[in-house]
Amino acid sequence: MTQVAFNRPYITGTETTYIADAMRRGHVSGDGHYTTRAAELLRPIVGGSNVLLTTSCTHALEMAALLIGLEPGDEIIMPSFTFVSTANAFALRGARPVFVDIRDDTCNIDEKLIEQAITARTRAVVVVHYAGVACEMDEILAVASRYGIVVVEDNAHGLGGGYRDRPLGSFGSLSTLSFHETKNVHCGEGGALVVVDPTLFERAEIIREKGTDRSRFFRKQVDKYSWVDVGSSYLPSDILAAFLTAQLEMFGSIQAARMKIWQRYAQSLGGWAELSGFRLPDPPSHTQHPAHLFWLLAPDLSTRSRFIAHMDSNGVKVLFHYVPLHSSTYGSQLGATELPITDSVSNRLIRLPLFAGLQDDEVDHIIESIFTFPVS
Ligand SMILES: *Cc1c(COP(=O)(O)O)cnc(C)c1O
Repeated sequence: MTQVAFNRPYITGTETTYIADAMRRGHVSGDGHYTTRAAELLRPIVGGSNVLLTTSCTHALEMAALLIGLEPGDEIIMPSFTFVSTANAFALRGARPVFVDIRDDTCNIDEKLIEQAITARTRAVVVVHYAGVACEMDEILAVASRYGIVVVEDNAHGLGGGYRDRPLGSFGSLSTLSFHETKNVHCGEGGALVVVDPTLFERAEIIREKGTDRSRFFRKQVDKYSWVDVGSSYLPSDILAAFLTAQLEMFGSIQAARMKIWQRYAQSLGGWAELSGFRLPDPPSHTQHPAHLFWLLAPDLSTRSRFIAHMDSNGVKVLFHYVPLHSSTYGSQLGATELPITDSVSNRLIRLPLFAGLQDDEVDHIIESIFTFPVS
């Protein structure tokens, strides 16, 4: 029987060549040749801002929390329907995540609910472009500027996506990227901080380099470096950057391969979804998504459980997520919150396999397996 994994990390073939080259160059710690090269390749995709490679998106979010200078008790508005790092990075600095419900069409933070969550303690709103489909940035930026709060984009899903033809990751003061092996381009584990607000750049470099001005020292702007601020070790080895460079050079073809699969799902499953009571993604026409994820919304939790078991018995691994943060072990201690859409979506959402390197016959098999799902 055909066995289809949920994800196989895509390898372009040039990763090992570049890793060997990084070793030959004799600079395998951070900020070597390939770190510069990867940042240069990323820069136009995120709208031209400075890009600092990091060891993960989680660490880029931690840098964002340090850069906005949080005090204990400060509040950060964010969706509950997201990966744990969106909240954890800010909680680690003593801030309190304040969860806002999502829209049931895009699974993004509901921009209309943000204003009522703002208090005198609110410092930032962190948005997640779920599946790389843009949040409503016009409304979000307008409310944030009215109250003088910072916008951070957790853009882990959205590299290459856009909103009204402007790149995702270029709207907040800061935005973050993930290069975990489940993302569109990867280096196993990795990330980046995009410093959109240029006044934050000097301090961002220092925080990333253990609180020292070593980056300026390397550029010969100071004759010695020392401890100048708080910080940590957030820069990846040039070996990882070499891997990532190989991926970024193939970004166009990786995205095209993913988009082809996304569109096959959308075109093949439309009629089936209507008959069987499932919903498919329908990204708003003013958003440009990067084919990060293809989801189905089952009519209810028990149908989802039956669907996952049915796909499993056909050799196809499909997954659900997220356990909403407000109902997680740690998050539920942050105060009771009613988030009906988040609860409903997280009980019903299913993700289909979607990665460059997923073969046509595997996609055929996935679609045929869906068609044989007994609806009731
Ligand atoms: C993957 C992901 C992260 C974390 O990325 P890492 O690079 O694994 O730290 C954060 N937020 C979202 C929305 C993600 O999908």
